[in-house]
Amino acid sequence: MKEKILEAINNSKVINTHSHHRNDDFFIDFNLDKLLENTYISWSKVDFDKSEQSRQNYLDKVRFKSYFVWLHKALKEIYGIKDELSAQNWDYYSDIINSYHKDKNWHKEILNNNCKYEKIILDTYWEPGSNNGDPGLFCPTFRINPLFFGYSKDAFDHNDNNVYKLYGREFNDIDEYVFFIRELVKEKINNGCVAVKNALAYDRPLDFKAGSRDDAQKVFKNRDNITENEIRLFQDYIFGEICSLAAEINIPLQCHTGMGRLEKTNALNLMQTIQSNPETKFVLFHGSFPWTDDIAGLLHAYPNVYCDICWLPLLSPTAAQYSLAQMIEIGTSDKIFWGCDTWTSEESYAAKIALTNVLADVLSQKIEKNYLSLNDAEIIIENILYQNPVKMYDFFKANKESK
Ligand SMILES: [Zn+2]
Repeated sequence: MKEKILEAINNSKVINTHSHHRNDDFFIDFNLDKLLENTYISWSKVDFDKSEQSRQNYLDKVRFKSYFVWLHKALKEIYGIKDELSAQNWDYYSDIINSYHKDKNWHKEILNNNCKYEKIILDTYWEPGSNNGDPGLFCPTFRINPLFFGYSKDAFDHNDNNVYKLYGREFNDIDEYVFFIRELVKEKINNGCVAVKNALAYDRPLDFKAGSRDDAQKVFKNRDNITENEIRLFQDYIFGEICSLAAEINIPLQCHTGMGRLEKTNALNLMQTIQSNPETKFVLFHGSFPWTDDIAGLLHAYPNVYCDICWLPLLSPTAAQYSLAQMIEIGTSDKIFWGCDTWTSEESYAAKIALTNVLADVLSQKIEKNYLSLNDAEIIIENILYQNPVKMYDFFKANKESK
Protein backbone atom coordinates (compact mmCIF):
# COMPACT_ATOMS: atom_id res chain seq x y z
CA MET A 1 0.00 0.00 0.00
CA LYS A 2 2.72 2.44 0.96
CA GLU A 3 4.30 1.89 -2.46
CA LYS A 4 1.13 3.06 -4.19
CA ILE A 5 0.94 6.12 -1.97
CA LEU A 6 4.58 6.96 -2.67
CA GLU A 7 3.91 6.62 -6.38
CA ALA A 8 0.92 8.98 -6.16
CA ILE A 9 3.02 11.56 -4.30
CA ASN A 10 5.92 11.28 -6.73
CA ASN A 11 3.59 11.61 -9.73
CA SER A 12 1.72 14.61 -8.36
CA LYS A 13 2.29 18.13 -9.63
CA VAL A 14 3.67 20.26 -6.81
CA ILE A 15 3.28 23.87 -5.83
CA ASN A 16 5.80 24.80 -3.16
CA THR A 17 4.10 27.53 -1.13
CA HIS A 18 7.09 28.80 0.84
CA SER A 19 10.77 29.13 -0.02
CA HIS A 20 13.73 31.45 0.52
CA HIS A 21 15.57 30.16 -2.54
CA ARG A 22 18.68 32.20 -3.30
CA ASN A 23 19.37 33.72 -6.69
CA ASP A 24 21.63 32.38 -9.47
CA ASP A 25 24.80 34.14 -8.27
CA PHE A 26 24.61 32.50 -4.87
CA PHE A 27 25.31 29.10 -6.47
CA ILE A 28 28.57 30.16 -8.11
CA ASP A 29 31.47 28.26 -6.51
CA PHE A 30 28.99 26.20 -4.56
CA ASN A 31 30.20 23.16 -2.61
CA LEU A 32 29.35 21.00 0.40
CA ASP A 33 30.65 23.53 2.93
CA LYS A 34 28.64 26.38 1.46
CA LEU A 35 25.57 24.17 1.27
CA LEU A 36 25.80 23.11 4.92
CA GLU A 37 26.37 26.69 6.04
CA ASN A 38 23.08 27.63 4.37
CA THR A 39 20.86 24.88 5.76
CA TYR A 40 18.94 24.55 9.01
CA ILE A 41 21.77 22.33 10.27
CA SER A 42 23.84 25.51 10.65
CA TRP A 43 21.32 26.78 13.22
CA SER A 44 22.76 24.24 15.65
CA LYS A 45 26.02 26.23 15.53
CA VAL A 46 28.38 23.27 15.22
CA ASP A 47 31.40 24.65 13.39
CA PHE A 48 33.69 22.81 11.00
CA ASP A 49 36.72 23.70 8.95
CA LYS A 50 38.85 21.86 6.41
CA SER A 51 40.41 19.48 8.94
CA GLU A 52 39.29 15.86 9.15
CA GLN A 53 38.98 16.16 12.92
CA SER A 54 36.51 19.04 12.77
CA ARG A 55 34.49 17.36 10.04
CA GLN A 56 34.33 14.19 12.15
CA ASN A 57 33.22 16.22 15.15
CA TYR A 58 30.57 17.94 13.03
CA LEU A 59 29.15 14.66 11.75
CA ASP A 60 29.15 13.12 15.23
CA LYS A 61 27.14 16.07 16.53
CA VAL A 62 24.57 16.48 13.75
CA ARG A 63 24.08 13.07 12.20
CA PHE A 64 20.86 12.18 14.02
CA LYS A 65 19.28 15.55 13.44
CA SER A 66 16.27 15.36 11.16
CA TYR A 67 17.66 18.22 9.02
CA PHE A 68 20.83 16.24 8.38
CA VAL A 69 19.13 12.88 7.83
CA TRP A 70 16.91 14.25 5.02
CA LEU A 71 19.70 16.32 3.46
CA HIS A 72 22.01 13.32 3.41
CA LYS A 73 19.37 11.24 1.60
CA ALA A 74 18.77 14.09 -0.86
CA LEU A 75 22.49 14.45 -1.68
CA LYS A 76 22.93 10.73 -2.29
CA GLU A 77 19.95 10.67 -4.61
CA ILE A 78 20.60 13.90 -6.53
CA TYR A 79 24.30 13.14 -7.09
CA GLY A 80 24.02 9.34 -7.34
CA ILE A 81 26.47 8.78 -4.46
CA LYS A 82 26.32 5.40 -2.72
CA ASP A 83 28.76 5.91 0.17
CA GLU A 84 27.62 7.59 3.35
CA LEU A 85 29.14 11.02 3.93
CA SER A 86 32.16 10.77 6.22
CA ALA A 87 35.07 12.95 7.30
CA GLN A 88 37.22 10.92 4.88
CA ASN A 89 35.08 11.32 1.73
CA TRP A 90 33.91 14.87 2.52
CA ASP A 91 35.94 16.39 -0.35
CA TYR A 92 34.63 13.75 -2.76
CA TYR A 93 31.05 14.84 -1.97
CA SER A 94 32.05 18.48 -2.15
CA ASP A 95 33.81 18.17 -5.51
CA ILE A 96 30.83 16.43 -7.11
CA ILE A 97 28.44 19.14 -5.85
CA ASN A 98 30.84 21.81 -7.06
CA SER A 99 31.27 20.29 -10.52
CA TYR A 100 27.51 20.04 -11.15
CA HIS A 101 27.04 23.66 -10.10
CA LYS A 102 29.53 24.79 -12.77
CA ASP A 103 26.39 24.73 -14.90
CA LYS A 104 24.74 27.83 -13.50
CA ASN A 105 21.30 26.44 -14.20
CA TRP A 106 21.91 23.32 -12.11
CA HIS A 107 20.15 24.64 -9.00
CA LYS A 108 17.00 25.16 -11.09
CA GLU A 109 17.28 21.71 -12.63
CA ILE A 110 17.04 20.16 -9.17
CA LEU A 111 13.94 22.24 -8.47
CA ASN A 112 12.39 21.16 -11.77
CA ASN A 113 13.51 17.55 -12.14
CA ASN A 114 13.97 16.20 -8.61
CA CYS A 115 11.46 18.35 -6.75
CA LYS A 116 9.02 18.73 -9.68
CA TYR A 117 7.83 22.17 -8.62
CA GLU A 118 5.50 23.97 -11.00
CA LYS A 119 5.52 27.14 -8.94
CA ILE A 120 7.33 28.35 -5.85
CA ILE A 121 6.12 31.12 -3.56
CA LEU A 122 9.27 33.02 -2.70
CA ASP A 123 9.98 35.01 0.46
CA THR A 124 13.11 37.05 -0.23
CA TYR A 125 13.43 38.82 3.12
CA TRP A 126 16.74 40.31 1.91
CA GLU A 127 14.82 42.12 -0.85
CA PRO A 128 11.09 41.98 0.00
CA GLY A 129 8.87 41.05 -2.96
CA SER A 130 11.53 39.79 -5.40
CA ASN A 131 11.02 36.88 -7.84
CA ASN A 132 14.79 36.25 -8.30
CA GLY A 133 14.37 37.39 -11.90
CA ASP A 134 12.44 34.25 -12.84
CA PRO A 135 8.70 35.01 -12.83
CA GLY A 136 7.92 31.70 -14.55
CA LEU A 137 8.99 29.66 -11.55
CA PHE A 138 8.88 32.09 -8.61
CA CYS A 139 5.88 34.06 -7.35
CA PRO A 140 6.82 36.34 -4.48
CA THR A 141 5.08 36.82 -1.18
CA PHE A 142 5.61 40.31 0.21
CA ARG A 143 7.44 40.30 3.52
CA ILE A 144 5.88 42.98 5.75
CA ASN A 145 8.11 42.84 8.84
CA PRO A 146 9.94 46.12 8.11
CA LEU A 147 6.60 47.97 8.08
CA PHE A 148 6.14 47.22 11.79
CA PHE A 149 9.32 49.18 12.55
CA GLY A 150 8.36 52.47 10.92
CA TYR A 151 7.92 54.10 14.33
CA SER A 152 11.58 55.15 14.24
CA LYS A 153 14.14 55.87 11.59
CA ASP A 154 16.60 53.81 13.61
CA ALA A 155 14.44 50.72 14.13
CA PHE A 156 15.26 47.52 12.27
CA ASP A 157 13.50 44.18 12.01
CA HIS A 158 15.35 40.92 12.72
CA ASN A 159 16.60 40.82 9.13
CA ASP A 160 18.12 44.30 9.54
CA ASN A 161 15.51 45.89 7.33
CA ASN A 162 14.41 49.48 7.90
CA VAL A 163 11.45 51.11 6.15
CA TYR A 164 13.17 54.47 5.63
CA LYS A 165 16.24 52.87 4.06
CA LEU A 166 14.22 50.42 1.96
CA TYR A 167 11.76 52.91 0.54
CA GLY A 168 13.42 56.33 1.03
CA ARG A 169 10.27 58.03 2.28
CA GLU A 170 9.26 60.50 5.00
CA PHE A 171 5.91 60.65 6.78
CA ASN A 172 4.28 63.49 8.72
CA ASP A 173 1.86 61.41 10.73
CA ILE A 174 0.46 57.92 11.22
CA ASP A 175 -2.27 58.39 8.61
CA GLU A 176 0.29 59.21 5.96
CA TYR A 177 2.31 56.18 7.04
CA VAL A 178 -0.67 53.82 6.87
CA PHE A 179 -1.64 55.27 3.49
CA PHE A 180 1.91 54.51 2.29
CA ILE A 181 1.65 50.91 3.58
CA ARG A 182 -1.65 50.38 1.80
CA GLU A 183 -0.35 51.74 -1.50
CA LEU A 184 2.90 49.78 -1.18
CA VAL A 185 1.16 46.45 -0.56
CA LYS A 186 -1.28 47.05 -3.41
CA GLU A 187 1.61 47.91 -5.73
CA LYS A 188 3.47 44.72 -4.76
CA ILE A 189 0.36 42.62 -5.39
CA ASN A 190 -0.14 44.30 -8.76
CA ASN A 191 3.48 43.53 -9.60
CA GLY A 192 3.03 39.79 -9.00
CA CYS A 193 3.10 39.07 -5.25
CA VAL A 194 0.48 36.45 -4.40
CA ALA A 195 0.42 36.92 -0.61
CA VAL A 196 1.83 38.96 2.24
CA LYS A 197 4.07 37.37 4.83
CA ASN A 198 4.30 38.23 8.52
CA ALA A 199 7.36 36.71 10.20
CA LEU A 200 6.99 38.82 13.35
CA ALA A 201 7.45 35.75 15.58
CA TYR A 202 11.19 36.44 15.20
CA ASP A 203 10.67 40.02 16.42
CA ARG A 204 7.97 39.98 19.12
CA PRO A 205 5.21 37.87 20.73
CA LEU A 206 2.17 37.15 18.54
CA ASP A 207 -0.47 38.32 21.01
CA PHE A 208 -1.55 41.29 18.89
CA LYS A 209 -4.38 43.34 20.42
CA ALA A 210 -6.89 45.58 18.68
CA GLY A 211 -4.78 48.71 18.17
CA SER A 212 -5.89 52.31 18.21
CA ARG A 213 -4.98 55.00 15.72
CA ASP A 214 -4.46 57.55 18.50
CA ASP A 215 -2.00 55.35 20.39
CA ALA A 216 -0.10 54.71 17.16
CA GLN A 217 -0.10 58.42 16.36
CA LYS A 218 1.35 59.26 19.79
CA VAL A 219 4.17 56.78 19.23
CA PHE A 220 4.80 58.11 15.75
CA LYS A 221 5.01 61.69 17.02
CA ASN A 222 7.29 60.78 19.90
CA ARG A 223 9.54 58.54 17.83
CA ASP A 224 12.80 58.75 19.71
CA ASN A 225 11.56 58.32 23.23
CA ILE A 226 9.30 55.31 23.33
CA THR A 227 8.89 52.27 25.54
CA GLU A 228 8.63 48.59 24.58
CA ASN A 229 4.93 48.69 25.39
CA GLU A 230 4.35 51.69 23.12
CA ILE A 231 6.14 49.90 20.31
CA ARG A 232 3.73 46.99 20.74
CA LEU A 233 0.73 49.33 20.60
CA PHE A 234 2.06 50.80 17.38
CA GLN A 235 2.62 47.33 15.90
CA ASP A 236 -0.82 46.16 17.03
CA TYR A 237 -2.39 49.02 15.10
CA ILE A 238 -0.29 48.37 11.98
CA PHE A 239 -1.17 44.68 12.00
CA GLY A 240 -4.89 45.51 12.31
CA GLU A 241 -4.60 47.79 9.27
CA ILE A 242 -2.77 45.10 7.27
CA CYS A 243 -5.36 42.46 8.22
CA SER A 244 -8.15 44.77 6.99
CA LEU A 245 -6.29 45.50 3.78
CA ALA A 246 -5.69 41.78 3.13
CA ALA A 247 -9.45 41.18 3.41
CA GLU A 248 -10.24 44.20 1.23
CA ILE A 249 -7.99 43.10 -1.64
CA ASN A 250 -8.55 39.38 -0.97
CA ILE A 251 -4.93 38.39 -0.48
CA PRO A 252 -3.83 35.57 1.87
CA LEU A 253 -1.92 36.66 4.97
CA GLN A 254 0.84 34.16 5.72
CA CYS A 255 1.94 34.15 9.38
CA HIS A 256 4.93 32.44 10.92
CA THR A 257 3.74 30.61 14.06
CA GLY A 258 5.70 28.58 16.61
CA MET A 259 9.49 28.67 17.18
CA GLY A 260 10.98 32.13 16.39
CA ARG A 261 11.53 33.88 19.71
CA LEU A 262 9.50 31.11 21.41
CA GLU A 263 7.88 33.49 23.88
CA LYS A 264 4.17 33.64 22.94
CA THR A 265 4.77 32.51 19.38
CA ASN A 266 2.32 29.60 19.50
CA ALA A 267 -0.54 30.09 17.06
CA LEU A 268 -3.24 30.50 19.71
CA ASN A 269 -1.82 33.96 20.42
CA LEU A 270 -3.28 35.05 17.08
CA MET A 271 -6.81 34.07 18.11
CA GLN A 272 -8.03 37.56 18.89
CA THR A 273 -6.73 38.85 15.56
CA ILE A 274 -8.27 35.91 13.68
CA GLN A 275 -11.60 36.45 15.43
CA SER A 276 -11.65 40.20 14.77
CA ASN A 277 -10.87 39.76 11.07
CA PRO A 278 -13.26 37.06 9.80
CA GLU A 279 -12.81 38.11 6.18
CA THR A 280 -9.00 37.82 6.29
CA LYS A 281 -7.46 34.49 5.26
CA PHE A 282 -4.78 33.57 7.81
CA VAL A 283 -2.32 30.94 6.58
CA LEU A 284 -0.55 29.76 9.73
CA PHE A 285 2.95 28.43 9.07
CA HIS A 286 5.03 25.54 10.42
CA GLY A 287 2.15 23.82 12.25
CA SER A 288 2.96 26.18 15.16
CA PHE A 289 5.71 23.71 16.15
CA PRO A 290 6.18 22.62 18.89
CA TRP A 291 2.59 23.63 19.80
CA THR A 292 0.98 21.80 16.88
CA ASP A 293 -2.30 21.27 18.76
CA ASP A 294 -2.97 25.00 18.49
CA ILE A 295 -3.38 24.63 14.73
CA ALA A 296 -5.93 21.84 15.04
CA GLY A 297 -7.94 23.95 17.49
CA LEU A 298 -7.87 27.06 15.30
CA LEU A 299 -8.63 25.12 12.10
CA HIS A 300 -11.59 23.51 13.80
CA ALA A 301 -12.95 26.79 15.11
CA TYR A 302 -12.32 29.36 12.38
CA PRO A 303 -13.21 29.11 8.69
CA ASN A 304 -10.64 31.83 7.88
CA VAL A 305 -7.69 29.73 9.17
CA TYR A 306 -5.45 27.65 6.90
CA CYS A 307 -2.26 25.76 7.64
CA ASP A 308 1.01 25.66 5.73
CA ILE A 309 3.13 22.81 7.10
CA CYS A 310 6.27 24.26 5.50
CA TRP A 311 9.43 23.42 7.49
CA LEU A 312 7.56 20.97 9.75
CA PRO A 313 8.40 17.58 8.11
CA LEU A 314 12.04 18.65 7.79
CA LEU A 315 12.16 19.84 11.39
CA SER A 316 10.30 16.96 13.05
CA PRO A 317 8.69 14.17 11.05
CA THR A 318 7.02 12.89 14.24
CA ALA A 319 5.29 16.21 14.88
CA ALA A 320 4.40 16.52 11.20
CA GLN A 321 2.76 13.07 11.14
CA TYR A 322 0.77 13.75 14.26
CA SER A 323 -0.33 17.14 13.04
CA LEU A 324 -1.25 15.96 9.56
CA ALA A 325 -3.31 13.04 10.91
CA GLN A 326 -5.20 15.46 13.17
CA MET A 327 -5.88 17.91 10.36
CA ILE A 328 -7.27 15.13 8.16
CA GLU A 329 -9.45 13.88 11.02
CA ILE A 330 -10.98 17.29 11.67
CA GLY A 331 -11.87 17.47 7.98
CA THR A 332 -9.52 20.22 6.90
CA SER A 333 -7.23 18.55 4.36
CA ASP A 334 -8.54 21.08 1.84
CA LYS A 335 -6.87 23.84 3.89
CA ILE A 336 -3.33 22.46 4.09
CA PHE A 337 -0.36 23.62 2.02
CA TRP A 338 3.30 22.66 1.99
CA GLY A 339 6.46 24.60 1.24
CA CYS A 340 10.13 23.62 1.55
CA ASP A 341 11.17 26.75 3.48
CA THR A 342 14.81 26.42 2.39
CA TRP A 343 17.53 28.50 0.69
CA THR A 344 19.12 25.88 -1.57
CA SER A 345 17.88 23.26 -4.04
CA GLU A 346 19.54 20.37 -2.22
CA GLU A 347 17.79 21.17 1.04
CA SER A 348 14.56 21.88 -0.81
CA TYR A 349 14.68 18.34 -2.17
CA ALA A 350 15.47 17.11 1.35
CA ALA A 351 12.31 18.86 2.55
CA LYS A 352 10.32 17.24 -0.27
CA ILE A 353 11.64 13.78 0.70
CA ALA A 354 10.69 14.50 4.33
CA LEU A 355 7.17 15.50 3.29
CA THR A 356 6.84 12.45 1.05
CA ASN A 357 7.75 10.12 3.91
CA VAL A 358 5.46 11.85 6.39
CA LEU A 359 2.52 11.91 4.00
CA ALA A 360 3.02 8.29 2.96
CA ASP A 361 3.22 7.10 6.58
CA VAL A 362 0.10 8.97 7.67
CA LEU A 363 -2.00 7.99 4.66
CA SER A 364 -0.97 4.33 4.54
CA GLN A 365 -1.76 3.99 8.27
CA LYS A 366 -5.17 5.54 7.68
CA ILE A 367 -5.83 3.11 4.84
CA GLU A 368 -4.74 0.13 6.97
CA LYS A 369 -7.19 1.20 9.65
CA ASN A 370 -9.98 1.49 7.08
CA TYR A 371 -10.30 5.21 7.74
CA LEU A 372 -9.47 6.14 4.13
CA SER A 373 -9.55 4.35 0.78
CA LEU A 374 -6.64 4.57 -1.64
CA ASN A 375 -8.75 6.90 -3.73
CA ASP A 376 -9.36 9.16 -0.70
CA ALA A 377 -5.62 9.24 -0.04
CA GLU A 378 -4.93 10.23 -3.65
CA ILE A 379 -7.40 13.11 -3.35
CA ILE A 380 -5.69 14.33 -0.18
CA ILE A 381 -2.26 14.16 -1.85
CA GLU A 382 -3.41 16.14 -4.86
CA ASN A 383 -5.13 18.69 -2.64
CA ILE A 384 -2.14 19.36 -0.42
CA LEU A 385 0.48 19.37 -3.16
CA TYR A 386 -1.45 21.16 -5.87
CA GLN A 387 -5.16 21.94 -5.71
CA ASN A 388 -5.22 23.79 -2.39
CA PRO A 389 -2.51 26.29 -3.43
CA VAL A 390 -4.08 26.74 -6.87
CA LYS A 391 -7.36 27.70 -5.23
CA MET A 392 -5.75 29.93 -2.60
CA TYR A 393 -3.14 31.91 -4.53
CA ASP A 394 -3.66 33.83 -7.74
CA PHE A 395 -0.76 32.42 -9.76
CA PHE A 396 -2.41 33.23 -13.05
CA LYS A 397 -2.57 36.93 -12.23
CA ALA A 398 0.99 36.86 -10.98
CA ASN A 399 2.16 35.40 -14.28
CA LYS A 400 0.23 37.83 -16.38
CA GLU A 401 1.44 40.90 -14.48
CA SER A 402 5.08 39.94 -14.52
CA LYS A 403 5.31 39.29 -18.23
ZN1 LIG B 1 10.45 30.68 5.96
